[in-house]
Amino acid sequence: MPIQKTQDSTSLHSGSYTRLARRVCYLLAALMVFLFLGAGTLLVQIADQINRHESERDHLLAQNVLESRKDELNKTLLDYAFWDEAFANTSKVVNPDWLGQQTLLGWSLTERYALNAVFIVSPDMSIVYRYERRRSTGDTGLAWAPGDLERLTQNARTVSEGQAFQTLLFFNGKPALVSAAPIRPLSFRSDIPVEQTSVMVLVDVIGEHSLKDLSDRFGIQGLRPAHSSSEPNILLSPEHDVYLTWETSRPGDALLQILLPLLILAAVIFGLIAWYLLHRSIQAAVQIDQSRRIVQKSEERFKDIAEAASDWIWETDSSLCLHYLSERFALTTGFTAGAWIGKPLNELLTFDYAEIERLANGECTSLSSIPCQHLDAQGREHSGNLSINQVFDGDVLVGYRGTVCDTTLTVEAQEHILHLSRHDLLTGLPNRGYAYEVLQGRLSSNVDEDEGFAILYLDINDFKKVNDLLGHHAADRVLAKVAVQLGELLGPDNFLARLGGDEFLVITSGLPQSGLPRLCERLLAVIEQPLVSGEYDLHLGLSIGVAQAFIDSDDPQELLRLADIALHDAKCQGRQSWRLYDADMKKRIQERRDLELDLKLALQRDELSAVYQPRFDISGKRIIGAEALVRWHHPTKGWLSPAVFVPIAEESGQIIALSDWMLMRACREACLWAEPIFVSVNLSSIEFKRDDLARRITTALEQSGLAPERLEIEVTESVMMDNAEGARALMYELKALGVKLSMDDFGTGYSSLSYLSHYPFDGIKIDRSFVMNLADSRTNNQAIVNAIVALGRSLSMSVTAEGVETAEQLETLQQLECDQAQGYFLAKPMPGLFLAELLVKQSLQQS
Ligand code: C2E
Ligand code: CA
Ligand code: CA
Repeated sequence: MPIQKTQDSTSLHSGSYTRLARRVCYLLAALMVFLFLGAGTLLVQIADQINRHESERDHLLAQNVLESRKDELNKTLLDYAFWDEAFANTSKVVNPDWLGQQTLLGWSLTERYALNAVFIVSPDMSIVYRYERRRSTGDTGLAWAPGDLERLTQNARTVSEGQAFQTLLFFNGKPALVSAAPIRPLSFRSDIPVEQTSVMVLVDVIGEHSLKDLSDRFGIQGLRPAHSSSEPNILLSPEHDVYLTWETSRPGDALLQILLPLLILAAVIFGLIAWYLLHRSIQAAVQIDQSRRIVQKSEERFKDIAEAASDWIWETDSSLCLHYLSERFALTTGFTAGAWIGKPLNELLTFDYAEIERLANGECTSLSSIPCQHLDAQGREHSGNLSINQVFDGDVLVGYRGTVCDTTLTVEAQEHILHLSRHDLLTGLPNRGYAYEVLQGRLSSNVDEDEGFAILYLDINDFKKVNDLLGHHAADRVLAKVAVQLGELLGPDNFLARLGGDEFLVITSGLPQSGLPRLCERLLAVIEQPLVSGEYDLHLGLSIGVAQAFIDSDDPQELLRLADIALHDAKCQGRQSWRLYDADMKKRIQERRDLELDLKLALQRDELSAVYQPRFDISGKRIIGAEALVRWHHPTKGWLSPAVFVPIAEESGQIIALSDWMLMRACREACLWAEPIFVSVNLSSIEFKRDDLARRITTALEQSGLAPERLEIEVTESVMMDNAEGARALMYELKALGVKLSMDDFGTGYSSLSYLSHYPFDGIKIDRSFVMNLADSRTNNQAIVNAIVALGRSLSMSVTAEGVETAEQLETLQQLECDQAQGYFLAKPMPGLFLAELLVKQSLQQS
């Protein structure tokens, strides 16, 4: 089954469970809040309803209480007002005796009916009977407000018979129900008008005490009169703004007081439990998401690895039939995975089947790096490394799984790397390392002496100039062309390698020793042919050093070194030459090496000395300057020419010390001379490649005390070839010091006359070779000297002729209007003391 991103892994991206759990949590929390708020609201509503019911019931009861009180008062009053005996003793004439005996009337009425007072008012408006129950009304007694009694009796007389007049009056600020009715006979009809009858008045003060019984009886708390309209109430008298009020019982509130805290407690507990459970489920969801992410990442990683790895992955059942091949399989082999699913692994891969048996026998649990081969869809053979693991379900082996690492490319790459490491990129020829291996191989293999071979060390002459002229890229192309030419000439039998730069090596094969000169000549000839590079026709030269295997040496390192010595010798011979190594060469090189060491000592042992060759004005009579020339008196070899040891000093770096010595020596001696003529010192062109030249000259001038304008530096044209710009800058530095500059050996180098103007030379020294044959009409030396003189004139440079050996030469130079002359004819190089004497003489002649 190929590993694919499942639907889940793309649709349920990371954090989905956490989000879902959070959403469910918020929903449940909202639901709970809603439920508890609903329950609370319902509870409050129910309580309110209960309160309202209770209030209505109380109201009804209070009303009943009041009404029954009023009724009772009226009934009681009518019972007593319709009384024959009372009528007889109170109408028209009031019988005080009867009334006096009737104290019991008041007592029985007030006590029995819980009234507060009984009054009988005579027709003349006097209170003829009065009984008050003091205990209940207080000690103050009931005092009638002015006019109340009159109005009461009048109203009582107006009501129809059998009725009582009832009203609310105030006694001592306390409301009281007052009923009044005229006293009438019960058993007969009286014809006495109602105005002449007495009126019975019953007073029932509405007070807390009096209402207490009722309150208790009807179950209404705190029934009492009140002067406010505070609920609940029943209006007793609109005109007096008096109400009957009571304490409402609020059973709903009691219910709330009990149930609401319980509800809140339940909500809190439920909330806490829910929060804990939801918190745990969110945590669990986060964990699930994390593990999902880990699984997903690891799946992706596996997929990436499976796709990116050069290996492909396979899986088989226990009978080794393939049921999975990774995508890489198709890329590597060109087959589709489907083409191989269901087929045996060993049909696809060729490998040692015994390995599987080792697995089956339990000798090992996995195998790796088993070499295998297989063919790809194009039929190409691939090699690889096979790894095999067993797959178990519990203890049961259900199949095998492993990888195939295709090593075909690695093998090819290794071969390619090996080729690269052994060959030169530019020419495609074997490189130095490979050449050495081949040489070593040839030398160590057992060959007869007749089958000896030679090695040819080839070096293109002055290739540096080609580099400077064409630039590196074009020069590289020239080298590649040279390599092709050499290769074509040598053929497949001879081994050709590029050792680096412009050096090549040939290892001959099947060539007799006598054939060597011919081969070398042919090589020189092929290089001599003009080679076209862009706009240039190049004429290259070649030097060849040859060493013979087994004859000169059988050690590869030594053989190469000997060929190099021969090459060096060939180069010293000049352009286009080849040399077979001989023992003398080694000797010469050794001598040179010895000289190098001796020179080092010579500087320390003060074996060097300076001689001075005067320079004359063109008349040849007057010394105007002197050239300092170095001399070395070698302890065994005697006097040595600078032409021998200066090149050694240049190559070994000792030239700096040598020049410093000469500068100091020349400057110091010049200071002793009787005439302030200049002294010229020869410097090597390699000294112009270092940036300390000006400092070195300054030191010599300062330490000697010589005026800078008395020092002249002589330098050859090669200074402009190697490091043109740097040398020019240095020359200007020297000019700034006040020192003079002169171009030595002019005309021998490659420099054209024209670029002299780019350099700040004060003078030109025409090389000895032009002066030598001045008289010989077969040469055009005169014309050359003439041209140089003209050039010097035009550039304001003085022109000196070197190597003047005859009077004739001097004469010709005078005719050619040369400025100065130097040479054996005028004066040979001489010790400083001699020159000093000459100058004394000259100064004496002058004066
Ligand atoms: P150069 O600078 O061209 O010096 C002139 C050379 O020609 C000197 O040789 C001098 O003795 C020689 N000579 C002068 N007049 C005549 C003549 O009329 N006929 C002939 N045949 N030769 C004449 P020397 O002293 O052997 O120097 C050879 C070269 O060595 C010099 O050539 C110069 O390039 C170099 N050299 C000498 N001394 C020094 C030095 O102190 N430093 C450096 N860097 N090079 C030096
Ligand atoms: Ca010189
Ligand atoms: Ca010279």
